[in-house]
Amino acid sequence: MGMLATSGAEITSRAEDADIIVVNTCSFIDSAKQESVDTILEMARFKESGRAKKLIVAGCLVERYRDEIQKNIPQVDAVVGTGELDQILAAAGIEATGLTPLDSPFKILNSNSASQSLKSGVSRQPNARAEGDARERSGRFSRTAWDGATAALPTYLYDENTPRLLATPKHSAYIKIAEGCDHPCAFCIIPQLRGKFRSRRFESVVSEAERLANQGVREVTLIGQDTTCYGEDLELKDGLAHLLDRLSQIEQLRWVRFLYAYPNKITGRLLETIAASEKICSYLDVPLQHASAAVLRRMKRGGSADIFLRSIEKMRRAVPNLTLRTSFIAGFPGETEQEFEELCDFVREAQFDWLGVFSYSDEEGTPAFRLGGKVAPREIERRRRQLMKIQKQISRRKRKAAVGQEFEVMLEGPSQETELLWEARSEMHAPEIDGKLFINDFGEHANAKPGEFYRSRIVEAHDYDLVAELV
Ligand code: SF4
Repeated sequence: MGMLATSGAEITSRAEDADIIVVNTCSFIDSAKQESVDTILEMARFKESGRAKKLIVAGCLVERYRDEIQKNIPQVDAVVGTGELDQILAAAGIEATGLTPLDSPFKILNSNSASQSLKSGVSRQPNARAEGDARERSGRFSRTAWDGATAALPTYLYDENTPRLLATPKHSAYIKIAEGCDHPCAFCIIPQLRGKFRSRRFESVVSEAERLANQGVREVTLIGQDTTCYGEDLELKDGLAHLLDRLSQIEQLRWVRFLYAYPNKITGRLLETIAASEKICSYLDVPLQHASAAVLRRMKRGGSADIFLRSIEKMRRAVPNLTLRTSFIAGFPGETEQEFEELCDFVREAQFDWLGVFSYSDEEGTPAFRLGGKVAPREIERRRRQLMKIQKQISRRKRKAAVGQEFEVMLEGPSQETELLWEARSEMHAPEIDGKLFINDFGEHANAKPGEFYRSRIVEAHDYDLVAELV
């Protein structure tokens, strides 16, 4: 969006106004692929009616089904994979100089389900991790089973000079600090889609964060498939801890958080860094995927309920008032009733603050695709619901315990669910994913604005949501 906008395009969120439609896609599980294809077909109608002049498909679906998209959806004019973002201008028929060969200014709809920034230049990573090289030799990144996909893995990384247009509210921004993943998780296709792990330069992230802070951003959320590996390819020790520490020194930033920690990569140094800074949110999202040692072994992740319980205890000891989020997969191939029960017991014991459960999705090209003992879809759904039911009780208890307590919150603005309430987030609420915090009483702060921080008192609790008043 940033590249298009700096080249003279006007970005619109209304498909009916757009001359060029860009659909940014996901393809990591079946439901995401379906949503992407449905959106492309919906947007193709604007091409058919002659309203839109170009339809571009971008993102992970292109990495997986490049040829098929163009063969089966003739309305698509161009595809742009995750490693080809610098080709978005050519795909749109816009010259980088800002000259526009079609109507000017263009109106462009970027239709996506996940916010993503585009970049102007490709910076390749000079150092690969030994772990990634070894995985590559063992075939982890192979795309040979995919008809029509290019063999080349994406190597793209954006940098601080890449023009960016925020798709988030102006007080909060995501910063991608690394791309790709070298882990061997048997169910996961992301390494084949996104390529080998590579970190952005430390100074590049700092300079982007400084620029965002100068523009009014008060919260940055660092993302990557695995943020806890940050810097390993740059020969940085404790890279993420150093980066968090450095970003927390940017004066205008109030909250710095990061998502997606790999369980055995959470170091003592990282926990100390979180605990030592007021600005680094006491929040960890550690997708554990399962708790039965046998299932984790088949998933090629390792660990066990006992190991995880010990590390959770260490995390909670090191970071007072830690908010802990995780996610699991229900119905991995061969998951027995007993292994599933182990997972249920673990969830009861670990008492996570937030928890998500994915139904296992069988993805061609992953090692799990070739495993026997597939669990029937209805049974997968039953297990998913059962886990969520256990968590619902835990969540209700935890939310209730917060009533009467005071937290600093960042106002988001009027609620999308009801005009009568505003929404806010506390340190324990990452953007978009956790339960909601509604404000029902502004007290003396009738002129409060989105992006401002206030002290609030929790007055009501629901299963996942909270209601608070400003104090
Ligand atoms: S760490 Fe995450 S992105 Fe990487 S392979 Fe495992 S599940 Fe996939």
